[in-house]
Amino acid sequence: RAGEVVVEAHGLTAGYAGTPAVHEVDLEVRAGEVVALLGANGAGKTTTLLALAGEVTPIAGSVAFHGDARRRRLHQRARQGLGFLTEERCVFMGLTGWQNLRLGRGRPEDALAHFPELEEHLHKKVGLLSGGQQQMLALGRVLAARPRVLLADELSLGLAPMVVERLLAAVRSAADDGLAVVLVEQHVRQALAVADRVHVLRRGRVVLSGAAADLRADAAGIAAHYLTG
Ligand code: ATP
Repeated sequence: RAGEVVVEAHGLTAGYAGTPAVHEVDLEVRAGEVVALLGANGAGKTTTLLALAGEVTPIAGSVAFHGDARRRRLHQRARQGLGFLTEERCVFMGLTGWQNLRLGRGRPEDALAHFPELEEHLHKKVGLLSGGQQQMLALGRVLAARPRVLLADELSLGLAPMVVERLLAAVRSAADDGLAVVLVEQHVRQALAVADRVHVLRRGRVVLSGAAADLRADAAGIAAHYLTG
């Protein structure tokens, strides 16, 4: 089912002020695939995403986007089809949902196609919406831009399990339509439920990789072993 490689990292070592936070990460994401990056706080998940996005420069190794390994910053990657959902939802709390969607790169109707349940709330200021509704708005806005790659950093942070499932189901369905997804998550069971492949990071290194289907039965073991710091 998976298509061409859209984003890839090889031997990626990256960090801050010359000090590596991730070491020798190899990663390939194909069109139609969800690849989950799991790991405890500080394991290096966000740094890996930032390196893929072009916002953290590799100390060694390479990052390529559609085979283009030249250095590109986030705004240039965005024009090449990168969608980035940061941990801070990136919605404007003082504006209405409609205004937020109109500020995006896509059409509000397309965001609503992913989350029809938002429509009745879009006239409200976003600060009055629930955390889950805010995150649906943020994700819907990114997906409406029709990216070819989505980098999503802990989109489920602090949200109720049902909302998390709803958000991840939308991500899965966008992948089924051809999107390549890198999903940073701390919810191991739910990430394994929607991912195709998984890499577990610990202290900046990939310590476990595999097909999500093979790891599902051991979600609790993985969480206990790798996500406790
Ligand atoms: P979290 O879930 O807390 O975001 P993470 O797995 O995403 O964790 P990173 O944020 O990538 O982990 O952090 C990896 C390491 O890099 C940590 O030791 C962290 O302290 C360090 N680090 C992260 N951001 C910076 C920064 N801007 N400057 C210096 N060090 C940083």
